[in-house]
Amino acid sequence: MRDVFEIRAQDAGGRVGDLHVPRADVTVETPALLPVVNPNVITVDPARFDEFGAEILITNSYIIKRDDDLAARAREEGLHDLLGFDGAIMTDSGSFQLSEYGEIDTDTEEILAFQHEIGSDIGTPVDIPTPPDVDRARAEEELRTTQERLELAETVDVGDMLVNAPVQGSTYPDLREEAGAHAYATDLDVFPVGAAVPMMNDYRYDDVARAVAGAKRGLGADAPVHLFGAGHPMMFALAVALGCDLFDSAAYALYARDDRYLTVHGTEQLADLHHFPCSCPICTEHAPEDVRRMPDAAREELLAEHNLHVSFTELRRVKQAVRDGDLLELVEARAHAHPRTLDGYRALLDHAGQYEASDPASKDAFFYASAESARRPEVLRHRERLARLSPEGRVLLTEGPRHDGYDDCWRVTPPFGPYPSALSEVYPLTAETPANMDREGYEAAAKGVARLAGEHPDAEFTLAHESWPADALDYVPPRVETLDLGEDRLTGPEDEA
Ligand SMILES: [Zn+2]
Repeated sequence: MRDVFEIRAQDAGGRVGDLHVPRADVTVETPALLPVVNPNVITVDPARFDEFGAEILITNSYIIKRDDDLAARAREEGLHDLLGFDGAIMTDSGSFQLSEYGEIDTDTEEILAFQHEIGSDIGTPVDIPTPPDVDRARAEEELRTTQERLELAETVDVGDMLVNAPVQGSTYPDLREEAGAHAYATDLDVFPVGAAVPMMNDYRYDDVARAVAGAKRGLGADAPVHLFGAGHPMMFALAVALGCDLFDSAAYALYARDDRYLTVHGTEQLADLHHFPCSCPICTEHAPEDVRRMPDAAREELLAEHNLHVSFTELRRVKQAVRDGDLLELVEARAHAHPRTLDGYRALLDHAGQYEASDPASKDAFFYASAESARRPEVLRHRERLARLSPEGRVLLTEGPRHDGYDDCWRVTPPFGPYPSALSEVYPLTAETPANMDREGYEAAAKGVARLAGEHPDAEFTLAHESWPADALDYVPPRVETLDLGEDRLTGPEDEA
């Protein structure tokens, strides 16, 4: 058990937790967003970060160390006074510069010692951020180097500073898993999924999802996970559902510099906005036209403030969704606002079995909001549960009325499939589903019927359905008799209960 992290609530792979940061003597509620602060280019004064809800920020120790004046001040005053921030401070090591420029002028021991010296609360070794799509030999070789650096980092005396153990592996999910397992076996504290920035910049949220899911398979459930470089609020819900606890945003400042306005659905250009679709203080007090007329620095600061507000608002919404048990409904809503987040959500659903384990067995209600809902962990879990039930004799599975010409009569409901009537008030079978179900919902139900028939070869099944589409019925094995309630009549004595 890692005592720096406590999980308070869970939904799908997402969790609300407490990250204890001993050196700062603060507890950060997760999921947490760390605004990125470039000490040379301050867009929003870190002293004001608590107005937005930031409890932790991230800055780059390598940038500070390379600048003699900054380094001297950081040594003298400490990082918290230098930046004017009394929350927790995480520092990066220069790995990003290494990935951008090919070399850096420091190493793991030196940079960890420097981070400790200037008062960082969470430091980072010099790992190798392997880009996406490299050949496997390179990904493996660089991962070995990263793993050596993590082992070296364990030996550096950094007092009560927490230390990041980045998880690399490029776009190879099995390497991410191996890297996760190795990092988790060290005594390091926080686990960033590294080198996601190039994928995130290209909106490759499906590859991000596969990388995170891979890392999560290797890491223990109690590991706090940081998605390095994830700063766009449109993907927070997805990233949390995948099991990420920390994010950092340079986007709030970088986008503001280019007159870009963040929303939970994507990015808008200030030039295109007639109205601000937001109720933050910036957007209620200003009109886009007025902001466009402002001098560069003032305009950039206002946009950056809006970008922070919208990001922290989304994070609060995500946390509430985890507590309410409707995180996947939120992910689905975000997924249907942008094709790239939909790609990410579909990649998450490819791993629904992995996320089923941490998903609470009971929540308020399951809302079937689109075809993707048919692949949610709850649907898989119900299908697994069919193996443990005991249908006997001739069993009617029906969407219509009960019929006493059978030994037993079960309900059948898309997308879940069959279940005994006694379970009909049990989550997720209380689901709200559309009157016009889609093909995926019927197919999922038919797979449930197939699973039940496969698990219980001694029972006989009749499926009485309300005109399911033929390609859904193709999943029902031949030994299950099917009746279309719209056309066929059940034989035997009528008895509707
Ligand atoms: Zn706003």
